[in-house]
Amino acid sequence: MTNISANLQAVNARISAAARAAGRTPESVRLLAVSKTWPAAAVREAAACGQRAFGENYLQESLPKIAELADLDLEWHFIGPLQSNKTRAVAERFDWAHAICREKIATRLSDQRPAGMPPLRVCLQVNVSGEAAKSGVAPEQVPALARAVAVLPGLELRGLMAIPEASDDTALLRRRYALLRELLARLNGEGMALDTLSMGMSHDLEAAIAEGATIVRIGTAIFGTRLKEGAP
Ligand SMILES: *Cc1c(COP(=O)(O)O)cnc(C)c1O
Repeated sequence: MTNISANLQAVNARISAAARAAGRTPESVRLLAVSKTWPAAAVREAAACGQRAFGENYLQESLPKIAELADLDLEWHFIGPLQSNKTRAVAERFDWAHAICREKIATRLSDQRPAGMPPLRVCLQVNVSGEAAKSGVAPEQVPALARAVAVLPGLELRGLMAIPEASDDTALLRRRYALLRELLARLNGEGMALDTLSMGMSHDLEAAIAEGATIVRIGTAIFGTRLKEGAP
């Protein structure tokens, strides 16, 4: 049986050690627990250990989970790719969306964000691996998309997100994450005030934190190996 409590402690210890090694405070990195494919009971167990932010990729799977856990004060992040037919539910049910790569999707999310809710916090997903990755906006298109998203009233642009190609090459991963950090610095140099680099997963959170990650998205190291992707 997966020991979620022990795993969470181990992941938080990894985050703290990586932050200190980079001359950063542990509090400067937030842990997003990626609960995709895992049942509401697993999320409840993690929440009982003090974990508040959870990430989901699959809308159909996430909506009943969010409803079932409405008694807890959790923060929900949609980290999967977003098509037009999913924007309404994400705008109505989630606190964050990490994988914005088209202006059209951003505009829909903004229009569909219910009045009375705070703006949906968003990150732009950047393709930092060139041809090796399929999703995300190309680095050279980031400034234009950021300017378009930043003015949408229903959204609050917070930063950038990336998923590099799978690799064991730490130096390569660090170059990918450094590119994301440099892109964020460029936007801030143009007058934006973005504070979020969503980067790093179970196998490479140390490399991401060394390059400035402020949110790491961790699934396997907390909940165990996923048996399948998609709806459970
Ligand atoms: C599944 C997923 C994660 C978590 O990956 P692990 O390797 O299980 O930590 C992080 N980010 C995104 C976008 C994911 O889809």
